[in-house]
Amino acid sequence: MKISVIGTGYVGLVTGVCLSEIGHEVTCLDIDEKKVQSMRDGISPIYEPGLDEMMKRNIDRNRLFFTSSYEEGLADNEFVFIAVGTPQSKNGSADLQYLNNACKSIAESMRRDMIVITKSTVPVGTNEHVKRTITQHLQEDYKVSVVSNPEFLREGSAIHDTFHGDRIVIGSEDEESLNRVKQIYADFELPILATDLRSAEMIKYASNAFLATKISFINELGNLCERLGANIENVSKGMGMDQRIGEKFLNAGVGYGGSCFPKDTNALLSIGNSVDCDMAIIKSVIDTNEKQQRIIVDKIKEFVPDLTNKKVGVLGLAFKPNTDDMRDAPSIKVIRELVDSGAEVYAYDPIAAENARVYLPGATVYKDSIDETLEDMDFAVIMTDWKDIKEYPLEKFNEQLKNPVLFDGRNCFNLQEMQKYGVQYHSIGRPSVG
Ligand code: NAD
Repeated sequence: MKISVIGTGYVGLVTGVCLSEIGHEVTCLDIDEKKVQSMRDGISPIYEPGLDEMMKRNIDRNRLFFTSSYEEGLADNEFVFIAVGTPQSKNGSADLQYLNNACKSIAESMRRDMIVITKSTVPVGTNEHVKRTITQHLQEDYKVSVVSNPEFLREGSAIHDTFHGDRIVIGSEDEESLNRVKQIYADFELPILATDLRSAEMIKYASNAFLATKISFINELGNLCERLGANIENVSKGMGMDQRIGEKFLNAGVGYGGSCFPKDTNALLSIGNSVDCDMAIIKSVIDTNEKQQRIIVDKIKEFVPDLTNKKVGVLGLAFKPNTDDMRDAPSIKVIRELVDSGAEVYAYDPIAAENARVYLPGATVYKDSIDETLEDMDFAVIMTDWKDIKEYPLEKFNEQLKNPVLFDGRNCFNLQEMQKYGVQYHSIGRPSVG
């Protein structure tokens, strides 16, 4: 099948590459010329495990193409996926400027009837708006069908999730376009939930908001455990064994970040406000998360009240492991606060350091290894549970740091183990040791 994908970020590029992998002919389009050139050369502009290899393979098979021209990108393709960003605007709602621009450009370059499939996360009612916008700007009288196909992949395991996701949601306005889009996914052999446009749009926000709720819930309980001498890890384990609750997303830490949960919970709140519907739970989830993101700083200040000229090693910058995405990473707030309090920050991330430079204070010094980041520091802070950080030999914290004091925002280490190595260890929702 002949498919266009508009926007080649984490969602668009992975979608395009995976669809070409199963045999479709895919043209990926982006307005960023630099990205297009790099993708043509077989280099992915984003870090996603396995993506480069799959991309190169399908370029060589002659079924994966890249362009910045809508005329070339749409050509005579039957399907166009929209996967442009829908970031948070100042008032918290989803900013649809990129989507609107994409719709106008699609309309101007359409040369046949098309099925427009929205993958971007968009407020309820947006697919109807997509249809109206494209129809208004059409040069000739073509048929435009819209389908909502929200994306559930996780950065860091995006390829795996595309092929092995829990479900594919397809919201449509007619049986014909539903069946055509089902055919695109036929080889994936995943459960398909067919529904109406508005419910499909809502499923995406509802799913992300529910996961964010689990995180804020467990973080709040973690803070309570600390005050009561309980251990949130044991509590999560006991809760997770109940199949009605499930064990996933019950890890206490420094709060959620990234390009989706913060903006999508805020967008949902704004959607609720726009129709005068009280969203008390979502509001508390957001508030709790904002407080949680600075909880590690409060802990640090409790043990090191004066941060002036203190040397701090920060391990991990990305909002989670296996991605280079720094959007809304909790490390940003924490490092800003440390720097504002007079500390000197030395930071390490195996993949995200380059992207981090855009977000972190200019004074941050970047290091190439964990050893270097810990050497001679007054204390260290873990912000991302990358594998190499979790597997760092515990005895080395004591050897490398000037003072063996570690604040762990991701609960990477076992308390009993840590106790053996003479490190003062403060984590989230668990008793401090050492
Ligand atoms: P991104 O910012 O990584 O990529 C968006 C891309 O769209 C950029 O490369 C940009 O240059 C391009 N673009 C912008 N305007 C364009 C236009 N008019 N024409 C062509 N290209 C244009 O975004 P992302 O993280 O891939 O997210 C895309 C959408 O998918 C968002 O709505 C997001 O909420 C949703 N989503 C993201 C994830 C995720 O993990 N990142 C997961 C599920 C859903």
